[in-house]
Formats: sequence, C-alpha cells, structure tokens
Amino acid sequence: MAVFVLSDDDLLRYSRQILLPQIDVNGQLRLGASRALIVGLGGLGSPVALYLAAAGVGELHLADFDTVDLTNLQRQVLHDTASVGLSKVDSALQRLGAINPRIRLVAHRAALDEDSLAAAVAAVDLVLDCSDNFATREAVNAACVAANKPLVSGAAIRLEGQLSVFDPRDAASPCYHCLYGHGSEAELTCSEAGVVGPLVGLVGSLQALEALKLLAGFGEPLVGRLLLIDGLGSRFRELRVKRDPACAVCAGRHG
Ligand SMILES: [Zn+2]
Repeated sequence: MAVFVLSDDDLLRYSRQILLPQIDVNGQLRLGASRALIVGLGGLGSPVALYLAAAGVGELHLADFDTVDLTNLQRQVLHDTASVGLSKVDSALQRLGAINPRIRLVAHRAALDEDSLAAAVAAVDLVLDCSDNFATREAVNAACVAANKPLVSGAAIRLEGQLSVFDPRDAASPCYHCLYGHGSEAELTCSEAGVVGPLVGLVGSLQALEALKLLAGFGEPLVGRLLLIDGLGSRFRELRVKRDPACAVCAGRHG
C-alpha cells in the first residue's frame, strides 16, 4: 500500500468519519491509498463520485463518453446547468476538484473497449458499475472477474432499485453474470422508462457506502446478497444470491 500521510487539514476535513472507530486514522489512510473506477457519471455515478471524493478516496478513475444534456439534470446532481454540452468527465473533474483538491482524478473520456476496460480495471482496487445498459454491465463484470477486483453494482429504474457487491476474491461470491446472465429488464433504460432522482441518489449513495467499507476494511459487504428497493412502498428487501456453478464468466475460477 502506498505511503500516505494525513496533514492537519486532512484530519479536520475527514474528522467526522475518523471519529468512527470502524474507520479511525488507519481507515482514512487506507482510503487515501485506494483507487476506484467509476463507470458512468450519470444518476448513480453522481452520488458515488461526490461521496467518494468527499471521503478522500485517493484516486478516482472516471469513465464516461457522454456529454451533459439538459434532461440529465433532474437526477445527475454531479452536473449543473452551466455544464450542459460539456463532457460528463470534464464536468465531474471541475466539481470533484472543487470538493476535494487533495485527491487525484484520472479521466477516461472515450468509450472503453475490451482492452482499455481491462487496463482501467487493472489500475484500480475496486470498480463501481454506474452504467445504464446490459452490455456495459456484462463487460465490466467480465473485466472484474478476470482481474479479481470487487465490483459494486447498482441499478435503478422508475421507482425501483437494486444493489449488490460481486467479489471474485471471495470463493462463495456470485458474479453479475450468475444473476443476470440470462437477460432481464436491464435492457430498458431510464430514457425509455423514466426514473425519479432520489431513487438513483439512494442506490448510488449505497454503492458509495459499500465502496468505502470494502476500501477501508470495515463492516459486512453486500456480497452474496441482492438488495431490492421499492421506492413506491418505501420497502427494502434482501435476497440471498448464489454463484452459478455453470456460469460462463466465473465458473472454474475457484477450483
Ligand atoms: Zn458468475
């Protein structure tokens, strides 16, 4: 792990989370030495990027090939009216740099193909899938399984959200393909079906929390469990999820 020192300013900036015995100075140092890749800077990626930057995750790798559109602003709170027309990555660089100039930001403005995605995943400790389509989710999952990197996966549509953590370092953990490989409603995007802002904010905030837990090493990660959020009825439900021993992506990786 990289050597990293907390300045007096850092001790103040992060004081409210350093106060927690689960984090403390050691956890803060671990966050500062951590690198996370955020795939997608939209409704889910917004709270993820904002909270991870504010919490002092040392290096955030930001991937999105899209530009900010007026229709994004209802839920993608990382961006503002002045950034309409800008690339989402550039908009994010401005905002995140203003929130926390102590962290390093790495930009991926072009769409990631198989090779560049593998390189981007290899360069970090953890990946957050904040994308909005099945093809990207499958590609990100395959890259994480191949590189043995934990994946914090979230999805939201209409008034429903889902969240899970897939960790190939854990022999019992399923991968994204184990759950969703047979296709689902995932193909439906927010632009077609609609979504409310606070719901993607909620799922993204939970993704950020899972990432902080995994990076700083505290709590019980959402591995082997799928959290289902019903925004209409204000209900959270949890399903146990298992590895598919015949999974085309992760089978055979754990002897
Ligand atoms: Zn699998």
